[in-house]
Amino acid sequence: SASAKTQQTYTIGTDVTFPPFEFANDQNKYVGIDMDLMRAIAKDQGFKVNIKPLGFNAAVQATQSGQIDGVIAGMSITKERAATFDFSNPYFTSGVVMAVAKNSKITDLNALKGKRVAVKTGTSGADYANSIKNKYGFKVVTFDDSNNMYEDVTTGNSVACFEDSPVMRYAIQQGSKLKIVTKPAESGSYGFAVKKGQNKALLTAFNRGLANLKKNGQYDKITERYLGKDS
Ligand code: GLN
Repeated sequence: SASAKTQQTYTIGTDVTFPPFEFANDQNKYVGIDMDLMRAIAKDQGFKVNIKPLGFNAAVQATQSGQIDGVIAGMSITKERAATFDFSNPYFTSGVVMAVAKNSKITDLNALKGKRVAVKTGTSGADYANSIKNKYGFKVVTFDDSNNMYEDVTTGNSVACFEDSPVMRYAIQQGSKLKIVTKPAESGSYGFAVKKGQNKALLTAFNRGLANLKKNGQYDKITERYLGKDS
């Protein structure tokens, strides 16, 4: 039986705070769609996980350098990243939106000329902002986590930030004093990632577990737990 042999433990990096995908709850336990999925997949496939909330960029770097086994952090599957990572099958659709302070008059990219915009280090939102900053004439400042990025906008240091749409929507629902003013850009999907050519068994197990969770209703149960019925 599975319990008779020692289960393999994998160390998985994640973001410090990226609700509803990963965040510390009242008991200081990491929960969220990514966390619940990862644990349910591990259970389904008979392995153990040691979750390390390192921060997004640090988790990506630690996976790339082989210090940890993989990263699940609302990480977008991109062509550039596919050069250094192997991704699981996609498990959630996302895109990048621009958010401004609730009382801001800014409604589009053209209004960013000469202004400061906050992004999170190493994210596709940061890449997107950097790819259009010259065209729209804004300056980019980087933060290591989403909370500090939002705060730079609510305090008025930056006029806008770029964040993943499900995450920004959730933060606003939870009371963050921001509003979304653009349609999602750079649309893509989240995937679990391992270092390219490494941890093939883990990646295969993740994909198998994900398929099982989708079939048996657990995937829907997990997303509904954080997003409600119409997620
Ligand atoms: N989806 C974005 C990316 O992959 C942001 C992830 C995050 O901030 N945790 O870059």
